[in-house]
This record gives sequence, structure tokens and C-alpha cells, in this order.
Amino acid sequence: MTDPRKSRYEGNKLAKRLRRQAGEAIADFGMIEAGDRVMVCLSGGKDSYGLLDVLLALRDKAPVEFELVAVNLDQKQPGFPARVLPEYLAARGVRFRIVEQDTYSVVKRLIPEGRTMCSLCSRLRRGVLYRVAGELGATKIALGHHRDDILATFFLNLFYGGTLKAMPAKLVSDDGRHVVIRPLAYVREDDLAAYAAAQDFPIIPCVLCGSQENLQRKAVRSMLTEWEKRYPGRVASILRALSDVRPSHLLDRKLFDFVGLRAKGIADSEGDTAFDPQSFREPQFSDA
Ligand code: SF4
Repeated sequence: MTDPRKSRYEGNKLAKRLRRQAGEAIADFGMIEAGDRVMVCLSGGKDSYGLLDVLLALRDKAPVEFELVAVNLDQKQPGFPARVLPEYLAARGVRFRIVEQDTYSVVKRLIPEGRTMCSLCSRLRRGVLYRVAGELGATKIALGHHRDDILATFFLNLFYGGTLKAMPAKLVSDDGRHVVIRPLAYVREDDLAAYAAAQDFPIIPCVLCGSQENLQRKAVRSMLTEWEKRYPGRVASILRALSDVRPSHLLDRKLFDFVGLRAKGIADSEGDTAFDPQSFREPQFSDA
């Protein structure tokens, strides 16, 4: 039998870690400023519940004042339990808006049977959420993507897109009108899953639409999980690498002026070491 004191202790440790990591990401990227109205996109999945919960806790302790408004888009998937989120949000005293828009029928009509619907579905959802952000006067749109989403996107772009880019922690939306933030950028997915179970969030399953998870994304996720199992610390090292980029050591001529480069006679530890092989140590990075 689990010792209740031990699980309480572990639960508190996990909650603190989530808040610390989200707080760090918010500070590192200047995600939230005084006076912000942050629209928190809530799907009913573990990640968005975790995001809202962590932001509520941070708001109550933050040295600056900001507002939170939770928004859920009811896309009218058959069987969507429409009462779950309003009841949860009302019980927690969170300001919220439920937006009803039947994007499900549109997607069903346009995508042939058996094909994945996610890309069109997400595009439609994005449009609705941008509109609502404007109506609410939101200065930021917060999404529940976490560290593992960011890394999976990085490898998908690397393997299939031929570009070196991940999912941004903070960026202006593609319509140029909103600032989108991902406060869980440093948070591990399994921590969010454990937190959701510990908090007993009323999860709404994401299989209602009947769409299959993107197989490439699934494969990349398994690759990362397998790596982490075999080489603990590797995933954290990859995340760290994404925040320590050396354009001179890559091949993108838009980022570094290779053509105009001249020797200046000044020693530089980042300069080329010619034939010396680089040595690597085992990952020391801990995200506990
Ligand atoms: S899983 Fe379903 S609801 Fe989610 S993006 Fe894909 S089609 Fe849309």
C-alpha cells in the first residue's frame, strides 16, 4: 500500500517542479508582463489543465498583476461532454468563455474517410481562437505544449522538413496580431501526466473525433522515450542545445556571414580547432 504521507510529499514536489519550470520559462522568454490578459486555451486534456493550474498558482504569487481567461472551443465532436469544463472552471472560480463552433462537421465533410483530420481541424481551431482572443482583448495566448512537444517538432522538422526549427516558446501568431506563449516549454510530458492524475483533473479524451495520431509524430515520440530510457539525460541535453545555438558552426549563410569572414588575429575559444576532435562528456543535466 502507498504511504499517503509519501505520496503527498511526492505530489508537492511535483507541483513545485512544474511551477518552477513554468516560472523559469516565463521569465527567460518574457512571456507575461504586468497588465497582461492571458487567454489560456483549454482543451480538456492533461496538458492544458496542467497549464491553467500552474498559471493560476503563479498568478497568485507573481510580483506583477496579470489576468487569466480560460477558453475552450467546443468543436461539436460527437459525445463531447459539454458540461465538464464549465463546471470545473466555475468550481475553481476561473473566468472563462466556452466557444461553440462546429468545426467537426466541416472537417468530416472535407477530409476523405481514413485520412488524418488534424491539420485542417487545427487550422480551423486556430482561426476561431485568434478571433476570440481579439474579442476578449487578450494580450497573450497561452498554449499547453510542453518540452516533449517542442522536441518532437524539432525532430519532425529535421527528419521530414529539412529545417532546423522547433516549436517556439514565444512568437507572434501567423496572422501577426497575437503573441502566443508556451509556458510549459521546460516541462516534461510524464510530469504533466502524473500531475493530472494526482490532481484528478476531469480529462476529456481526445479520441472523440476518431482521428488517428500522426504516425510520424508518434514514431518520433517513441524514439525520444527510448533514448531517454537508454541514455538518461539525453532529452534534457537536446533541449539545452536548442537554447545554445552557434550559427558559425552550422551551414546557414543567412545567419552567419561566412563569405565576409576574415581572420582578425584575436583568439576565440569558439573558433575552429582544425583537426582536434571534439570531446563529449556524459549528460550532466538534471531536470528534477
Ligand atoms: S485529434 Fe481530432 S480534435 Fe484533435 S486536432 Fe486531430 S482531428 Fe482535431
